[in-house]
Amino acid sequence: MLPELKRLVDLQELDKVIRGVTQEMEKLPEFMETETARLQDLKAETAVLAQELENLKSQRRAMEGEIADLEESIKKSRQRLMEIKSNIEYRAMLKEIAYKEDQRDKTETRMLETMDLIEAKTKGLVEQDRKVQEQQAFLAQEEEKLKAQMGTLKKRLAGLEKERGGLRKGVPAQLLKRYEFIRERRNGTAIAPVREGVCLGCNMNILPQQFIDLQKGEEILQCPHCQRILYWLDEMEEEAAAN
Ligand SMILES: [Zn+2]
Repeated sequence: MLPELKRLVDLQELDKVIRGVTQEMEKLPEFMETETARLQDLKAETAVLAQELENLKSQRRAMEGEIADLEESIKKSRQRLMEIKSNIEYRAMLKEIAYKEDQRDKTETRMLETMDLIEAKTKGLVEQDRKVQEQQAFLAQEEEKLKAQMGTLKKRLAGLEKERGGLRKGVPAQLLKRYEFIRERRNGTAIAPVREGVCLGCNMNILPQQFIDLQKGEEILQCPHCQRILYWLDEMEEEAAAN
């Protein structure tokens, strides 16, 4: 087997590892994005809860005002009751007072219900704040982890690229160019083994004469169907077995 062909096989193995590491690096921030979005959602929910709480509080204040007004009005009516002479007017005033008292009692009941709601909503908001803080802490922790993972991968990648540079030096420029060209078009696989006359890149038979030439190992051959650079697998396996 031509030594440059052997180096190309090694280069492809290495390129695949590099591609894997690069993809891993690209994928790492995705998790952070999802978790950051979750934090934003939690914060939005907090804002809704806080607004609902504000509304309830202003409702309570309004009812407090209503009750105070009714109390004041009842007090005045009672005072006027003393001055009334006619029975009819007296009864009418009593009725009016009773009506206002009823209104006051109803408003008080509603206000108590609102206060219960305020209490529940306040608890909900505290719980929601806790969730936000938890998520923030989790994010900070994950950010640290991510930095560490990225650092490790970067270091690994730098090592692999150095190794790659060394391997590429051993391959003629023209062949390297052809390798890159095919690699781009064949999803990262530019060089394929041939076993019993079949290109394992595309699983099709190469020409019988090509197979004979391949076994001689004197020239660089490409698959007539997928254009991948070919090497003879049996020979590789024999070499591997010998080592
Ligand atoms: Zn092929």
